[in-house]
Amino acid sequence: MLELTDMQVIRALTKRHDFSFSKGLGQNFLIDPEVCPAIAEYGIPEPECGVLEIGTGFGVLTQQLALKSEQVVAVELDRRLKPVLAETLAEFKNIRIVWQDIMKVDLREFIKEQFGEREVAVCANLPYYITSPILMHLLESDVKLKSITVMVQKEAAERLCAEIGSRSAGAVTAAVRLRGEAEMLFEVPRDSFYPAPNVDSAVIRITPYETPPCTPEQLTQVLRVVKAGFAQRRKTAVNALSSGLSMPKEQVTEALAACGQKETVRFEQLDSDTLLRLTDALFSEN
Ligand code: SAM
Repeated sequence: MLELTDMQVIRALTKRHDFSFSKGLGQNFLIDPEVCPAIAEYGIPEPECGVLEIGTGFGVLTQQLALKSEQVVAVELDRRLKPVLAETLAEFKNIRIVWQDIMKVDLREFIKEQFGEREVAVCANLPYYITSPILMHLLESDVKLKSITVMVQKEAAERLCAEIGSRSAGAVTAAVRLRGEAEMLFEVPRDSFYPAPNVDSAVIRITPYETPPCTPEQLTQVLRVVKAGFAQRRKTAVNALSSGLSMPKEQVTEALAACGQKETVRFEQLDSDTLLRLTDALFSEN
């Protein structure tokens, strides 16, 4: 197996394939030999569990995932990596690369098509320019995942693992909390990557609830409310929601009152139970 955390190997591959790292695609590849095995260990509960990877780079994490799982499917956008991966992943028969933008993949159909009835976990070192949209895409899709174990920027990790109602929470925090439990696993310093980014990172794991607190339809509605609320988080919930959802202020005030909330409450102060009740109250008024 090619040692993809060895800088000499990386330089040789880069030269041989005339590859240049794209900042725009978030191409910071892992070079710390301990990190990828740890992600695979945390992310894959047993070999029968299939793995969806997002963004292969040179395949450093893909290799470790393929050592632990019977089936790995990786979605990668940058086709320039095709000849590189043909070399670095040549000996693995249990890896399939799909050349696509993950944001354009219909996850429900894709996972069924690729994995059939197998349980599936997501493991990835996410491209940072698009971390929240990818997580939203995963959480909003009506797909049952075993877990989502991902490397993200440290600040994003803190936001993702925050409690709803705390200062660092955002729309994506609410999406995580409504779908499962999030835990911070370990931090990864910036010099664990090549090229080194300007920020440190952390690996988090989201484990979806066995019994979700809301149906997929309710989730879509509550996420509409959450996006509207956090888009203007400094305003009162009444103002943020009435402008974000194009609803009369009186309707929002009544819905908040039905959940025991004053009209001066700010959106970021609402917890997940209140968000669910508020969503019901807002939409049942229609
Ligand atoms: N897994 C490798 C590693 O850990 O070294 C690479 C991780 S790098 C941070 C992110 C990877 O995601 C890059 O290979 C990049 O080309 C790919 N990527 C960026 N945007 C993508 C998208 N929209 N869909 C799929 N892959 C994407």
